[in-house]
Parts: sequence; structure tokens; C-alpha cells
Amino acid sequence: MPQHFLLSATSRTLSLRSIYKAGEDAAYQTFCEMRWPETDGEAVCPCCGFDEAYKITTRRKFKCKACHHQFSVTSGTIFASRKMDFVDLLAAICIIVNASKGVSMVQLSRDLDCQYKTAFVLAHKLREAMAQEVHTGEVLEGHVEIDGAYFGGHIRPENAKADRKDRRLKQHQTGKRRVVIAMREREGRTLPFVGMSEGEGVALANENVSRIATMSADEASHWDELHLGHHVDRVNHSEIYSDDGKHTNLVESFFSRLRNMVRGQHHHVSPQYLHQYANHAAWLEDNRRTDNGTLAKIVVSNSMAAPVSRQWKGYWQRAA
Ligand SMILES: [Zn+2]
Repeated sequence: MPQHFLLSATSRTLSLRSIYKAGEDAAYQTFCEMRWPETDGEAVCPCCGFDEAYKITTRRKFKCKACHHQFSVTSGTIFASRKMDFVDLLAAICIIVNASKGVSMVQLSRDLDCQYKTAFVLAHKLREAMAQEVHTGEVLEGHVEIDGAYFGGHIRPENAKADRKDRRLKQHQTGKRRVVIAMREREGRTLPFVGMSEGEGVALANENVSRIATMSADEASHWDELHLGHHVDRVNHSEIYSDDGKHTNLVESFFSRLRNMVRGQHHHVSPQYLHQYANHAAWLEDNRRTDNGTLAKIVVSNSMAAPVSRQWKGYWQRAA
């Protein structure tokens, strides 16, 4: 039997030891190279695009020779106004990409010896960077599976049976239940969305799946409408899971990863951030056979290309 990819040496190309051994200057250099790949890490002014700048080495800043604008390697990116050392940022990225089902923020804060808040915001910024690769704006093609899975809104039953309420009734629900609707190409990308009911998936499919693609869905009646716009294979899960190529097993794998992530690592996620965890799981799913050094590079490069986060910049200051 061939060796599983994740057990092979080719899947391990980066380690915390190598990051800390190389040190802060090497980590800084990595960020420069990822920010300005076209000049091999030489600063390019974000203001006017001029590629010559004075180096203010003591503060790790640059001053444009043309327009005198001062900037740093993280200016205008998702890491703008960072306080953490570059070597710690790289270590955080390494820990996060190594965790195939995500990592809890308490654990990350212990690993990095930073506050829980710092870890929480940092991880959410990284998820935002990953989401750029998940939500590319391109339509899904080939064979696309669609399904939904509900998360959250659990109501704990009362201790005594006499006190228990009917949890199926709307007035007894918390209003925090959401559905993750995912579409997954048999050979390619996974695209998740968060909604209130699974039926919203029909409109999402019409928007995000090519008209000539074949789709697979389960027996739920709201998918009947999919037949209007697409060729759809249906599989009845009460009878069979896979019927001669008709199945939704790949999209179920994505839900399995997301469920393990939420249940096993985060324990609880707020409905307003569920889409971020879904994007994280989709990114991990799509990159499941990529070595960890490349994964870390992809995340750094995406972070350097991602604009300042509107949601996460100054998050705790605003929430306080
Ligand atoms: Zn300039």
C-alpha cells in the first residue's frame, strides 16, 4: 500500500524549529519577499508605485524617494499596525496551517505566549486571507456537489422531564442556528456560504455554478428547483449513499472537517463568524495534499495581498 501523503517526508517542509532558528531578520525578509515578489523583496511605494525608497532601518520603515510617503512592509495589508514580531507571526501561521482541523485560540495563545484576544484576532485575519482563495468570484465547473449542514442554536434540555420544552417549536429556539451551504467541484474548489435555511442554496447554485456543469444533490425537496437550471443527479440517502457515481460524498467530507473543527477545537462559534470557519475548512480541504511550507507561503502571500481588514482592525478597541 502506498504511503499516505501526510505521513511522508514531502508533506513536512517547515517547522517551528527552523523558523526560530532562522530568526527575526529572516522572517522579516520572508514578509518583504512575499509583499513585493516582483522586485525580490525591494520596497515598492504603495502610494505612487515608485520602486526606490530610503530605508529607515531602526524602525523597519521605508520612505519613498519620489513622493516621500513613509510605509512599512505591512502597511495597507491585513497585518497593518501589527505589534507582534515577524518571527512570531510566521510561527503562528505555521501552527495554524499544520492544524488540519484548525486550532483553538486558547491553545494558540499558550503556544505563542500572547493574549487570547491577540490570537483570536490574528487567526480571524488569517482566515480572511485564506478566504481570498476560496471566494475567487469564478464559477464552479465540471461536476459540482451541493449540500447543507446546520450549526449552532443548541438548546440544552431541562433537567426534569416536566420542565422540558418542545425544542422543535420556533418560539423555543435561540435564533442562532445557521446553515452552511457548500458546493464542491469533484476535482477542484469548495465554496461555502452561510444562510438561514438550506433552500437558499438554489439561488447560490444559480449564481455560482456554471450552467453546463452537472450537479449532485440529496433527496431533500428544496433541491428539486435545481433541475430548472442544471442537470442534477439525485441520491436518496435513506436508501443508498453512493449509487454508481451519484453521491455527495465530497461535500460531506468538507462538512465532516468543519464539524470536527467546530466540535473538537472551537467548541462554540458565533453565528456571525461561522462563515470564517467555513472558509478556513474549505481552504484546508482544497489544500489537503499540499506540504506545510507551501501552505505557510500561500497564507503569508495572501495576507500581504489582502487589504486592511475592515472587520478585524481595532476589533477589541471597538468592542470594548
Ligand atoms: Zn511614493
